[in-house]
Amino acid sequence: MTEQKHIVVVGGGIAGLSLASELALDNQVTILEAEMQPGYHSTGRSAAVFVIPFVNDVVHRLSVASERFFVEPPKGFDCLSQRLTNVLVAEADNADQVTAFLDTWSRRCPWLKRVTGGEIRDEVPILKKEIVCGARDERSLALDVHNILEGHRRRLLERNGSIETRARGVEMSWQADRWRIELDNGKVLFGDMLINAAGAWATEVAELAGAVQVSLQPKRRTGIIVDPGVDSTSWPMIHVASGDLYFKPETSMLMVSPADETDSAPCDAQPDEWDVAVGMDRLNQLVTIDIDRPERTWAGLRSFVPDRAPVIGFDPQAPCFFWLAAFGGFGVQTSPAYSRMASGLINDESLPDDLEALRELVAPDRPNLDRG
Ligand SMILES: Cc1cc2nc3c(=O)[nH]c(=O)nc-3n(C[C@H](O)[C@H](O)[C@H](O)COP(=O)(O)OP(=O)(O)OC[C@H]3O[C@@H](n4cnc5c(N)ncnc54)[C@H](O)[C@@H]3O)c2cc1C
Repeated sequence: MTEQKHIVVVGGGIAGLSLASELALDNQVTILEAEMQPGYHSTGRSAAVFVIPFVNDVVHRLSVASERFFVEPPKGFDCLSQRLTNVLVAEADNADQVTAFLDTWSRRCPWLKRVTGGEIRDEVPILKKEIVCGARDERSLALDVHNILEGHRRRLLERNGSIETRARGVEMSWQADRWRIELDNGKVLFGDMLINAAGAWATEVAELAGAVQVSLQPKRRTGIIVDPGVDSTSWPMIHVASGDLYFKPETSMLMVSPADETDSAPCDAQPDEWDVAVGMDRLNQLVTIDIDRPERTWAGLRSFVPDRAPVIGFDPQAPCFFWLAAFGGFGVQTSPAYSRMASGLINDESLPDDLEALRELVAPDRPNLDRG
């Protein structure tokens, strides 16, 4: 048992909430969230899926270490996931991308299976006949982000932690061995430790606190809801191998994305008409029916550092300043593992072997972070 600290977490997205609910077991924890409610930015705008063969080895290993949490939620959490099959599909001229995907991931994910265009159309009859092959992943999950956040929020409050909303940290300074944090409403808080879980704003928070600058780039991604006019509830998620479109069942509708990555400043991201039109066009080129208009659209920011691994660990410059950022397009699905890892590091506990092996690969002072 370590000594109780007062820990201030800047950011009430999945990163801040999942870590705060862990830390509150042994510490006094306060979350500061600039908006009226937690999860308002990236967390509330995700596609809400969990995919094991994803992005790179670090993301893959964090995902493997997270799966159980979603499939068998701990006490106090409601149902967090449902099985979802995920199929990467290709036309003849990019069938080699399916082969490359299977070559990269099959050893680590032996359940992946090559399938024919006919087999894919048996499940998703609207796909055009030019789709000739695919890679089928039966171990993906559709996540319930609301239940995940709500479970963490409840657990945090039960452990006597607190969330202050409409509370943007605007001044942060280390004075007399503790952090002094001034909010935009004039209030001042003190903490023994500061956690930077500010999503797209993480470099701004680092600058305020005098921490190192990492090269973090928020990128806008668009979500579109369409009505396919047919029963799509049992369909798998479909990713196009060229990487520029995916869709998945969303109750009786489809959620579609052109998988865009447009550099953005940190902001309340809004969908761009052009990105929506591109998404609709790519969807219509892939299917045999006409889907003429979106029912609803949104956009959110996915923030990356150059190697597309997250940034987790103590800052090498600012004292008692901990990074929990750069969660790109995988911040929900890896949250059980990274919050466990971060809480172990903060409480100075030994980590399980699978997470210990990642410590250097996610550290804020790793060599390939391309600091500005
Ligand atoms: C379209 C889309 C699809 C996605 N699909 C998936 C998916 O299927 N699976 C998956 O795992 N991930 C997905 N993601 C990525 C996932 O949403 C993010 O990785 C995750 O939400 C990041 O969480 P976060 O807590 O770091 O950031 P956020 O949720 O953005 O939270 C950061 C919070 O910090 C607050 N903040 C910032 N500065 C301050 C300050 N100074 N003071 C107080 N508060 C502050 C902000 O208001 C914000 O609420 C997707 C993202 C998008 C946009």
